[in-house]
Amino acid sequence: MKIDVLTLFPAMFAGPLDESIIMRARKSGLLDLKIHQLRDWTHDRHKTVDDRPFGGGPGMLLKPEPIFEAVESLRRAETKVILLSPSGRKFDQSIARELAQEKELLLVTGHYEGFDERVRATLADDELSIGDYVLTNGALPAMVVIDAVARLLPGVLGDDESSRDESFSHGLLEYPQWTRPAEFRGLKVPDVLVSGNHAEIEKWRREQSQSRTKEQRPDLLG
Ligand code: SAM
Repeated sequence: MKIDVLTLFPAMFAGPLDESIIMRARKSGLLDLKIHQLRDWTHDRHKTVDDRPFGGGPGMLLKPEPIFEAVESLRRAETKVILLSPSGRKFDQSIARELAQEKELLLVTGHYEGFDERVRATLADDELSIGDYVLTNGALPAMVVIDAVARLLPGVLGDDESSRDESFSHGLLEYPQWTRPAEFRGLKVPDVLVSGNHAEIEKWRREQSQSRTKEQRPDLLG
């Protein structure tokens, strides 16, 4: 998959996406990630990307011209253009799965008070929020989307099974898990997990998933 990101803060992306699984995906070519500086599509001496909102009000808005130029030069026929914004539909695991089917994503991140409305209305194919809170700019939201989507690409996780049976994959939270030692500070692993009875283990895990979801996230049960 190819992912392009349009941002005012390319340096923020160094680090989180240069480690571990995502870095391996990039090195192996499963993920082709390019970070672009929005100011590269300005034409004035000061590389201006923002202006005051019509009608007054606090803060500055991202101007349409550099964003339109950037998106028009980066996108191809198969590119899905996604705006990161607190007003978007709320990003979740099922949207991550949807996006993992795409060939190319272009993530457009904002700053200041956000975007001129024409960007949302005519340039974006989708608008995503990572949650009901406001961050200073869209770099972290973009990285959240990239990480969640990239790990679902075939071959990115060492064991593709691990994304099939985790939290949210069946509308439930994941069951609790333990590793060795079987007893630690008097805390024992449930007997069923060391019984070797796989049918019983599966049944127990299903029940645990359901009771944990009911307790922690009843909203997921509808
Ligand atoms: N004035 C905007 C509003 O009230 O919705 C908030 C703008 S925010 C300070 C600046 C930028 O950060 C946004 O344009 C967006 O790209 C990004 N951003 C902040 N919070 C976000 C969230 N929860 N989800 C996605 N993007 C977010």
